[in-house]
Amino acid sequence: MSSHTSQQIPGVYRRKIGDILVTSISDGYLDGTLDVMRNVDLERAGQILRDAFRPARRTSVNTFLIQSNGRMALVDTGSGNYMAPTAGFVQRNLAAGGIDPRAIDTVLLTHMHPDHSAGLTDMTNGELLFPNAELVMHENEPAHWFDDGALAKANEREAKLFFQAGREQVAPYRKRTRLFKQGEVFPGVTAIPSHGHTPGHTAYLVASGNEQLMIWGDTVHVPEVQTAFPEAGMAFDTDLAAAAASRKRMFDRVSVDRVLIAGMHLHFPAFARLARRGDAYALYPEAWVHTLEVN
Ligand SMILES: [Zn+2]
Repeated sequence: MSSHTSQQIPGVYRRKIGDILVTSISDGYLDGTLDVMRNVDLERAGQILRDAFRPARRTSVNTFLIQSNGRMALVDTGSGNYMAPTAGFVQRNLAAGGIDPRAIDTVLLTHMHPDHSAGLTDMTNGELLFPNAELVMHENEPAHWFDDGALAKANEREAKLFFQAGREQVAPYRKRTRLFKQGEVFPGVTAIPSHGHTPGHTAYLVASGNEQLMIWGDTVHVPEVQTAFPEAGMAFDTDLAAAAASRKRMFDRVSVDRVLIAGMHLHFPAFARLARRGDAYALYPEAWVHTLEVN
C-alpha cells in the first residue's frame, strides 16, 4: 500500500486561448457566512447553497497568469497573510507551476481589495514579491483608496482591511505603477471597466485568434446565489447599485457572446460559461483536461 499525505495537488491549471497561455493559480479559499450579502433574502440564499450541497459560503480566491508574446502578467496576487490561513498560497502555487515570480513583468490588478492586492509585498521585510513587475490598474483605484476623505467615511474594519492594507501593499510599487482608463493594457489583454464593486474594478478580456476569455474579476463572490439573483451584492461593494448594474451588463455580455469566463471567486480552476435561464443565469464549469494541447 502506498502511503498518502493530506497535501493536495497544487492549485495550478493551464488553458490555451489561441496563442496565449492562461494559468489559473489558486490562492486558496475563504470560508464565511452569508451575512455579508445584500439585496437578497438570506433564507433563500442559504437554501440555494444547501441545494448546491454547500452548507456554508466557501469563496475560492484565484489569480491568473497570462503568457503572451514572450511576456508574463499575473492578474491579481491573492491575499498574502492578510485574510485567513486557508488562503495566501499564490507564491507556493507559482513555485509548484514552475513559475519564477521574478519572471513576471506585469501585475494587473482588478481592484485594490486585500484578497487581490495583498500578495504584492511581504510586509515582514518590505520586499516586493514581484520585483521586476510593473503594477497596472485602473486610475480610479488608487484615486479612491489613497483618498483621506474616503478613508474618513469608512468604518474601522474597512479602514484597516481595505484602505490601510491597499496602501501599504501598493505604495512600494509607486515608481513602477501604470494607470489606465481602458484599452489594451498588455499584449492581447483589454481592460473592461466594470465599476461598482470598487470605483475602478476592472475585468480583463484576453483575445487571441478567434478565442476569447473574459476574466471578470469580482463580478460574483457567491456564484450560486448571484447567478440566481443578479441583484444580490456584498456589504463591501463600494456602490451596491453600480456593482449590480455592472454585474448584469457582464452577465448579459458573456451569456450572449457565449464567451469563456474566469473569475477570482469562481470555484477553482474557475473556467466556466454562463447561460441565461429565464430571469436568472446558470454557471457551467468547463470540463478540465488532463493534458494541455500543444499547437
Ligand atoms: Zn475579491
